[in-house]
Amino acid sequence: MELLRAFLDVLFPPLCHLCKEPVPEAGPLHLCESCLGAMTPIDSPLCPVCGVPHGTEGGIDHLCGSCLLARPPFDGARGALLYEGPIRELIHRHKYGRKVHLRRPLALLAIGQLTPFVSSVAPDVMVPVPLHRSRLRERGFNQAVLMGAVLAREWRLPLLRDTLRRVRPTVAQVTLSASERHSNVRGAFAVASPERIAGRRVLLLDDVSTTGSTLAECARVLKGAGAAAVFAATVALAPRDR
Ligand SMILES: [Zn+2]
Ligand SMILES: [Zn+2]
Repeated sequence: MELLRAFLDVLFPPLCHLCKEPVPEAGPLHLCESCLGAMTPIDSPLCPVCGVPHGTEGGIDHLCGSCLLARPPFDGARGALLYEGPIRELIHRHKYGRKVHLRRPLALLAIGQLTPFVSSVAPDVMVPVPLHRSRLRERGFNQAVLMGAVLAREWRLPLLRDTLRRVRPTVAQVTLSASERHSNVRGAFAVASPERIAGRRVLLLDDVSTTGSTLAECARVLKGAGAAAVFAATVALAPRDR
């Protein structure tokens, strides 16, 4: 099977998921060097709580201004890449273009960048950020659940699909200002089976975090239901206004 795959790759090189250029040495990622090179991995120095990079060359991790002012309810969040350019395009095609096979490169990018963080916080379970049933019906899938299935296998975590629920529909966060985003998600989530997360360390998962409001509200509700700690991993993280 491996030999057949290698043979077919020579005859018909796989195409880059983004620009459709052939990538003979694609590996499982199937992204070309130029698309990959246009992505910005998030590295230290960053804020250890919200994961926002400080944008300086050297230095150690330290709290950002907004986490100093008001500590979010999650214990630590990390994004693999800055939400801009090709990763933004890949996430949009996956979610709005309904290209469900793109869960794989998205998950692989998260694995490549976030595995040390996930190991260090030692979660017990993974919880994907849920969609409201009306949104789920419209889209047909929850992108966080699709990626979560790949990541849960890699990180050997049970994936709890229905423990956290979105009980109130919300408008897309991208259309709102920072303060509106906070009230938009307030009271939007509930825990259906608290016994599955009580006393456990939870890893929340989503494709992208823009202001962190959704992750913060999910974390608040999970902790209210007894979670011992809540961490969050996203493929992309929007640069914040400072
Ligand atoms: Zn490309
Ligand atoms: Zn911060």
